[in-house]
Amino acid sequence: MADDEGRSNKGQDGDLGKPDGCPSYRNRAMTKRRHGEAQEAIRRAFHFGFIRLRRHDVERGGIIGLEKPEYDALIQKGDLTGDIFKKDRYNDEPLIEGLHFTCWADAQEEDDLIDWEPPTTIKPFLRHAHLCSYRESPFPELKLIVKESIYDILLEALENIDRRAMPFLSDIETQKPPLDLSRSFKDRLLGINSVCGRIATCDWPGCGDPFCSSELAWVENGICLVYLSASGAGIGSVFLFPFTTL
Ligand SMILES: [Zn+2]
Repeated sequence: MADDEGRSNKGQDGDLGKPDGCPSYRNRAMTKRRHGEAQEAIRRAFHFGFIRLRRHDVERGGIIGLEKPEYDALIQKGDLTGDIFKKDRYNDEPLIEGLHFTCWADAQEEDDLIDWEPPTTIKPFLRHAHLCSYRESPFPELKLIVKESIYDILLEALENIDRRAMPFLSDIETQKPPLDLSRSFKDRLLGINSVCGRIATCDWPGCGDPFCSSELAWVENGICLVYLSASGAGIGSVFLFPFTTL
């Protein structure tokens, strides 16, 4: 990509972090219109992904599912405050401060993410998912960091992504956190150019229960834009640009 590296040993904008492992990281064109906080949030999201709170550490982001009224308020006002974060239906543990993948959990409606019928797309869900940061003090607040949805961020980044900087799916080991891919997911997705929806569910013989475990993905031109794992408890993990399939 950039040929001007090494000209200067003063970092300029090149020292925000490690370029390796983050495919879009060096892509200045994609983020130059955004302010620093938004740019950093996108960089972290691509680099670390998101894990359900139970397992989520400070470095990785968390996942928050909102009901429709709260989701609408967040998008309209740019933030969400009050005591809604204490309700059981949002989270089973206290929220951790930091970056969160925040979604309207029922955005799919007709084509539920976790159902007996595999969803034919996950795009409506991604159009209603956003990067937000949560803080406790001086009062609990969830703030929208990037105006565009995850869907828009991914499509924008896809145009300029350097696929050579991404790992190849066949090189990723199964059942290894944080990605924790199943063998059947990997086998089904390898070599696929374009797909969007549920790729695999729990592969115990005779189970097939969508509430047991589901793995979903969106792939374009052999680039996986999203890997998502889910169960009856909700979204378990989200990884953006995790690997290539071709
Ligand atoms: Zn099962």
